[in-house]
Amino acid sequence: MNKAKRLEILTRLRDDNPHPTTELNFNSPFELLIAVLLSAQATDVGVNKATGPLFAAANTPQAILDLGLDKLKDYIKTIGLFNTKAENTMKTCQMLVDLHGGEVPESREALEALPGVGRKTANVVLNTAFGWPTIAVDTHIDRVSNRTKFAMGKNVVEVEQKLLKVVPAEFKVDVHHWLILHGRYTCVARKPKCGACIIEDLCEFKDKTE
Ligand code: SF4
Repeated sequence: MNKAKRLEILTRLRDDNPHPTTELNFNSPFELLIAVLLSAQATDVGVNKATGPLFAAANTPQAILDLGLDKLKDYIKTIGLFNTKAENTMKTCQMLVDLHGGEVPESREALEALPGVGRKTANVVLNTAFGWPTIAVDTHIDRVSNRTKFAMGKNVVEVEQKLLKVVPAEFKVDVHHWLILHGRYTCVARKPKCGACIIEDLCEFKDKTE
């Protein structure tokens, strides 16, 4: 895909949604970190249902430590893989208290050292809580980037590197939300809604639907 098409795609996505953000509910970097940590293989709606009551009861690392593992599990038991996620959350809270004064560190290295936090989660937190121009590539972004030929890559890391290279600076902070939302609601996995897609004329996917 050429530069002019990419620019037009980004401009249309921005015009359609000038201030995109995550669909996870959060009011602090810590709440965002925990919500993202809980969101692996779960929907944002499902995570929000659990984190609403959880954060009302405990929304700092110390408060979650005080809650204890069993009560934490009770709050998040509707989310898939909740046992492992609860254990990782407790260990992460302990590290935040011990090493970072109870705050979420604004550092990729420090974030990725937390249990249950990988590159994608670190990218989301750095981008959405701290405004870094990082691009967290998930399954939606991977699919949209490859289908449209906007930024092709064999895996999420390759797509991330390609996006970082081809997306102009002014779009970098928001591009991951635009692509996720586009993949979640329009360029869906099984049967993309090409007839209702605002970038259909620019997209280079060969098997567009009506
Ligand atoms: S035209 Fe179809 S394949 Fe291309 S981005 Fe839109 S929904 Fe996806």
